[in-house]
Amino acid sequence: QHLLGRIDRLDGELNSFITVTFDQALATADAADKTRAAGKAGPLTGLPLALKDIFCTRDVRTTAGSRMLDNFVSPYDATVVEKLATAGTVSLGKTNMDEFAMGSSNENSHYGPVKNPWDLAAVPGGSSGGSAAAVAAGLVPAAIGTDTGGSIRQPAAFCGITGLKPTYGRVSRYGMIAYASSLDQAGPMARTAEDCALLLSAMAGHDLRDSTCVARGVPDYTEELDTPLAGLKIGLPREYFGDGLDPQVETAVRDAIKVFESLGASVREVSLPHTHYAIPAYYVIAPAEASSNLSRFDGVRFGHRCDAPVDLIDLYKRSRAEGFGDEVKRRILIGTHTLSEGFFDAYYKKAQQVRRLIRQDFLDAFEEVDVLMGPASPTPAFDLGANKDPVSMYLQDIYTIAVNLAGIPGMSVPAGFAGRRPVGLQILGSHFTEARLLNVAHQFQ
Ligand code: GLN
Repeated sequence: QHLLGRIDRLDGELNSFITVTFDQALATADAADKTRAAGKAGPLTGLPLALKDIFCTRDVRTTAGSRMLDNFVSPYDATVVEKLATAGTVSLGKTNMDEFAMGSSNENSHYGPVKNPWDLAAVPGGSSGGSAAAVAAGLVPAAIGTDTGGSIRQPAAFCGITGLKPTYGRVSRYGMIAYASSLDQAGPMARTAEDCALLLSAMAGHDLRDSTCVARGVPDYTEELDTPLAGLKIGLPREYFGDGLDPQVETAVRDAIKVFESLGASVREVSLPHTHYAIPAYYVIAPAEASSNLSRFDGVRFGHRCDAPVDLIDLYKRSRAEGFGDEVKRRILIGTHTLSEGFFDAYYKKAQQVRRLIRQDFLDAFEEVDVLMGPASPTPAFDLGANKDPVSMYLQDIYTIAVNLAGIPGMSVPAGFAGRRPVGLQILGSHFTEARLLNVAHQFQ
């Protein structure tokens, strides 16, 4: 009730929620109280949280931030939603996001931009901007996001919270509306690494309904949180400290790294030589997958349908023209182009080859060091409306995107401020080292 009151009071200004489920939340909380009274409470029983509006929920609409899905109610729950409900959490609603998770500032939402609670003139980051802002504003203690190229880590950094993108395949994508299927991964966003560990323990695990979800045991991610960091080998990728990095962000990140040294870690420079190809490769692969995934929105089966179509082609054309926003259309065009005959080898196939090299860069680095550290984003949160050029927006993701191409896990943890705006330290590990990343972040916090 307390949090629903805060949402009522504060979210008119912040706009972090698309849908608030007041009645369902109170009913679920009552059920959690009964579970607790019966002595059957687990660590998450009764925990209020919010779900990015990309996770399908039965009975509550799921918009993906798009006009296309404004009226869409899924007939089933996403696996993540199901697992979090089984763990006893209480969803307070669905958070705002860039349309179909395409964006870095939450300004691409059909439901309007979200404000950064630290500075209302600033963006919260994207695409999970609603989730990050809701946690930062104390509207919920935790939220779930998705990360295709940085959409958990960058908004976590901009809003001064902790976010984790797990290894590709760690968490089921079933019922998560697909953007780029080979890159999308769900993860927790909360105040601390410890909270993220509790959430990930409940979210992760094999799912027969997602063939890319890995059959691998789920540890209790809180178990290693207290392991001392003496002897930890930290690598600083040279390419993450170069041109374009805001000096205040660099200072905050370097100060954080000194804290790890004081805890007994050693630091050395490493190189990820193909870093500068990550954005071009991503902006071929992600739109290609998106153009394919979004072909299902044809006005026939679900989603927006235009009025009075004269024939089938008119139905497709006008439903899609009216339902999708500009950025989504831009990506469908790019993806359709790069997948078309005559361009496939030059763009899509080449990008996949580059992707393999980027992955190898990380594998080579992890032969030498345990974790990599650097900034989550080259700048702190920018002003709403300040970044109008799509390509300069794409460049925001320079430090986060390669991680998705490689499939490795990554976190952003709060590491001070640039003026009033938070800075995020990014911590990366090799595949399935989430427990280690959470441990490293926890020792810092
Ligand atoms: N900003 C990137 C994009 O627009 C990443 C978004 C994401 O991770 N979903 O595609």
